[in-house]
Amino acid sequence: MRIFLSTILVTVFSFGISLADIDFDRFFLEKTMRVDYFHTGIQGKEVISLDQVREEPIWAGSRVNLIDTLNLGKYFFKVFDAKTNQMIYSRGFSSIYGEWETTDEAAKGIWRTFSESVRFPYPKGTVQLAIAVRDEGGYYKNIFSTVIDPNSHYVNREPPTSDMSVISVQKMGEPAKKVDLLILGDGYTRDEMGQFRKDVERFTKALFDTSPFKERKKDFNVWAIEVASQDSGPDQPHLGIFRNTALGCSYNTFDSPRYMLTYENKAFREIAANAPYDQLFFIVNSNQYGGGGIFNLYSTTFTRAEKEVQSWWPDYVFVHEFGHSFGGLGDEYYSSSVAYTDFYSSKVEPWESNVTALHDPDNVKWKDLIEEGTPLPTPWDKAEYDELDAERRALETDDPDYGRKLTEITVRREELFQKQKYFGKVGAFEGSGYVSEGMYRPSLDCRMFTKSLAEFCPVCRQAIERMIDFYTE
Ligand SMILES: [Zn+2]
Repeated sequence: MRIFLSTILVTVFSFGISLADIDFDRFFLEKTMRVDYFHTGIQGKEVISLDQVREEPIWAGSRVNLIDTLNLGKYFFKVFDAKTNQMIYSRGFSSIYGEWETTDEAAKGIWRTFSESVRFPYPKGTVQLAIAVRDEGGYYKNIFSTVIDPNSHYVNREPPTSDMSVISVQKMGEPAKKVDLLILGDGYTRDEMGQFRKDVERFTKALFDTSPFKERKKDFNVWAIEVASQDSGPDQPHLGIFRNTALGCSYNTFDSPRYMLTYENKAFREIAANAPYDQLFFIVNSNQYGGGGIFNLYSTTFTRAEKEVQSWWPDYVFVHEFGHSFGGLGDEYYSSSVAYTDFYSSKVEPWESNVTALHDPDNVKWKDLIEEGTPLPTPWDKAEYDELDAERRALETDDPDYGRKLTEITVRREELFQKQKYFGKVGAFEGSGYVSEGMYRPSLDCRMFTKSLAEFCPVCRQAIERMIDFYTE
């Protein structure tokens, strides 16, 4: 494809670039450039190849914070203006590929390909796009680079399919100065749109009932698109259930029954292009527990619990997953089974704001929130918690006494936390990031730790607030 003007030489990841404000109007038009690519590999080897460059009609992101200074995400992309060699846009993100490569399947040497996209405001002139991944030491290394002429006829300028209604659920101001959350439904048939609208209202309420979103509600616009699926409900491959849905959401991602993602990147991107968005959330018409969330990609949740005693579960999942996809937060739990092996290396400090390997206790990344005199690691009755959590995991949902037993365990867990010396304090509590030892979390409890309606811990709250500030300047 001649879109790549190989004669233009741009130094990749050149330094000496000022992080001073980039003048949006000098470099960009008020619409989006989306670059779709294929991310292919096996464990230890990855390749990115270009699919297409796509024009989208709306840019909803900040016009001020064009350069990402947060340094979050497994991947990072940078856009350079070819004429001035100036970096004009950058963002950290994570991907399904980045998780998949930590699974057994990838370790066995089975090559796979995932469709991914990066989006940035539509450049006026030729740009170089570079994508980097963190290496084993946690430092970014460049794995892809291409030159894009925005005026080339190779850019796909088709209008997106727009026979769907866009609903303004909560409009607080201009998209450029707000976090624009776009909710899409999957597995809702045309006859189930009333239910979809009710579910959107329910989750919007759940989000803004939780701190720090509660206090920052005015910084968010919420949009929804009525997407009709042919079939009701998502795929459940492990149960032999396959359904044709608009977004392609499926349980059993990486063979983990409750992990629900979609691999149909271009399908949901084409639908989402109809509304302003910074963040995507797919609510999936199902009563089976599940969800997922990947930083700056999307989140998913199921929508209804099977039993009355579980009625709050979808609210928990919605907010927890949004913690991943919006806040860039890691999982603080360690006792539930996941499909990853060695998701975090104990040798490298995780990039997530709320998980630490505690290599340097004097300089732990949330040091400013720790009271003087708090020991690091911070002692707690881990063995007792582990026993209780094993009891919780052993509960059978078809046990006629399930509800009472679940409530009883929840009460005992709360009592256990409350009798800890460092209850309510920030420290470094061992057990986090899917491992019982060698990874630490900031507080005893958090929405990223227990399956409960627990508040976010102070470190997670701070990370979320920082992100809201970044979007709304
Ligand atoms: Zn937390």
